[in-house]
Amino acid sequence: MHELGLARSILEIAEAYARREGARAIREIGLRVGALSGVEKEALEFAFEAAKQGTLAQQARLAVQWVPLVAYCEACKKEFEVASPFGIALCPVCKKPTATLEQGLELGVDYLEVE
Ligand SMILES: [Zn+2]
Repeated sequence: MHELGLARSILEIAEAYARREGARAIREIGLRVGALSGVEKEALEFAFEAAKQGTLAQQARLAVQWVPLVAYCEACKKEFEVASPFGIALCPVCKKPTATLEQGLELGVDYLEVE
């Protein structure tokens, strides 16, 4: 995952929104990042700090909500959290692998606070 490119895209979205709203500055950017999105926390925060300089988000805080990986077993009709960072999901009840991931892949802007 290229965190700098990601940080720039986030800032682009945020600045476009702020301009449309006639805001002077962006206060906070809320992100939803899935466990399987491949984003590294430290790398993203570092990239964001660097990329936000000179933008409307210069003083903005990045609030990242990390979404755990959740899979669904068709056989048991059960949702369960996947501990494996590689997304290998074994149902804890029937021990069968499942490919149905309910959440954990998301990556996007959740909310924006401007002033
Ligand atoms: Zn099962």
